[in-house]
Amino acid sequence: MSVLVVGSVAFDSVKTPYGEAEEAIGGSATYFAAAASFFTPVDIVAVVGTDFPRESLQFLSERHVDLSGLEVADGRTFRWAGEYQLNMNDRETLDTQLNVLADFHPNLADRHREQPFVFLANIDPELQASVLKQTVHPDLVICDTMDFWISGKRDALLETMTQVDVLIINDSEARDLVEDHNLARAANQILGLGPRAVVIKRGEHGATLITNDTYFSVPAFPVLSVMDPTGAGDSFAGGFVGYLAKSKDTSDIGLKNAMVHGSVMASFNVEDFSVRRLETLTPHEIDHRYDRFIEMITL
Ligand code: AMP
Repeated sequence: MSVLVVGSVAFDSVKTPYGEAEEAIGGSATYFAAAASFFTPVDIVAVVGTDFPRESLQFLSERHVDLSGLEVADGRTFRWAGEYQLNMNDRETLDTQLNVLADFHPNLADRHREQPFVFLANIDPELQASVLKQTVHPDLVICDTMDFWISGKRDALLETMTQVDVLIINDSEARDLVEDHNLARAANQILGLGPRAVVIKRGEHGATLITNDTYFSVPAFPVLSVMDPTGAGDSFAGGFVGYLAKSKDTSDIGLKNAMVHGSVMASFNVEDFSVRRLETLTPHEIDHRYDRFIEMITL
């Protein structure tokens, strides 16, 4: 089964203790599609400005990512800038320029409306809701967000949440969303907002899946050289959702297996700046790391 993603396609300027990238290709939909495309066909719905080099996404087209929903609008592409501290877990957003994203009104083609899996990547929750309105009874809706929208568009986000099956969010954002510092309580409160499952990402400390019946944690794969964590959350989501769409198993067991695939994809993404590592990655490398991951978490 294939996946529809709505999210950002961006120019990212990133500084880490190991280097920096100026106006490199990024965005939540880009990272997601780059990871998910190893498992399933992906349709992107997003907007870029006239300054965006479309050929930089050629590697996605070669992997069955449909870019017909990538609109080119008059103006500048969305830009984001961030800086990481030495521990690579703490990140400061230095700049967010919505540019063409500010006036984006996603208009779904028939093929997009009928996709069984919908991933609402990090983007304005009003756009997430407008996409959902145009879809026809998807089997599974998965959603991501970030502090920018939690503080800026809280009510719209809570409204979107009522239609979401799985929320993927990081620990500090989960605490902010329901205003509770205790993560276990915060996760339970999120389940009360609509989703039947929540995945809480904790950077280098791994991720936890919580449903009414399941509490399942995976570590992060121990990467010896983390260059740039940008997009780790989106590539986690790409592995997670891509695997679910491929396996069609959305039971708690399926979600647990998806957690491992998400962690594997995120671990590759952090090995280089921008989408470089996901561009050169091969299915063989993914299979090999998956096997090592399973060994790592099995007695
Ligand atoms: P992650 O590191 O997985 O949280 O995602 C980082 C990506 O999110 C970057 O490539 C940014 O371009 C994108 N991004 C950052 N802020 C926003 C925002 N407010 N809306 C949409 N995308 C964003």
